[in-house]
Amino acid sequence: MHVVRTEEALRAALAEWRANRRSIGFVPTMGALHAGHMSLVERARAENDVLTASIFVNPLQFGEREDLSRYPRTEAADLASLEEAGADVVLVGSTEDMYPAEFATRVEISRVTSGGEGAERPGHFPGVTTVVAKLFGMFTPTRAYFGWKDMQQCCVIRRMVRDLSYPLEVVPCEIVRESDGLACSSRNRYLSSADRAKAPALYRALRAARELWRGGESRGDALCALVRARLADDFRLDYVELRDEEDYRELTDPITGGRIVAAARLGGTRLLDNLELAR
Ligand code: AMP
Repeated sequence: MHVVRTEEALRAALAEWRANRRSIGFVPTMGALHAGHMSLVERARAENDVLTASIFVNPLQFGEREDLSRYPRTEAADLASLEEAGADVVLVGSTEDMYPAEFATRVEISRVTSGGEGAERPGHFPGVTTVVAKLFGMFTPTRAYFGWKDMQQCCVIRRMVRDLSYPLEVVPCEIVRESDGLACSSRNRYLSSADRAKAPALYRALRAARELWRGGESRGDALCALVRARLADDFRLDYVELRDEEDYRELTDPITGGRIVAAARLGGTRLLDNLELAR
């Protein structure tokens, strides 16, 4: 496995595969890898000749009051996991190499970024799309893998790829969960043990809403109200909404499918989850 730290070294590592027109699978991450990341890696390994990944905690996508400085960094363990999974090339990005002083570009997607995380975290999606646009240019992947865990991000990246005519396929992958239902996340390690015990209630609330929908309730308000009620005691809910998988469009009654998405805080930790209704 080649571990590269600069754009130049990445280019050299990929040159031969590119010349031989090998298919390149790419998994962008911010490191602190867990089973969710590894499911993307395994799928990319199975579907491509070459497996590539990046580890870069992208400062552009963090807000001023967010957790950039304390975001978990576990590079040695991440590299061991990627090697074990059969990665060929891993870029460990640095801010200096990714954003040299003269860097002056922002990639900003409208509409799909309204509501959800876009409304809660101004600047977040422009940060994400700027880095992902750059990474796509650097890796020239055939397929890029993203998790439904960040549903709006999947929609935003798909929109960007279509709008900017990137010649690659975006592959969204299903959410991987802990055995008690909590969606795997690098931020779960911030939870105190008392909060960790409460955290699966978010998934259970979404499941309860899905059950209500399956039982015939097709009013979005009623589905969201159930989630709100279930979380009222322990969580501070940022939002719960019903959204279309394709373009993150807000769904209107009658609700016939899509995903129910919620973001909620438990102590100082923000949890994000969603569930496809028709599954
Ligand atoms: P991050 O390192 O948080 O930027 O995540 C890198 C990629 O892994 C993103 O495409 C995430 O959506 C995806 N991911 C994170 N957690 C999960 C999970 N529990 N299941 C599936 N994919 C995930």
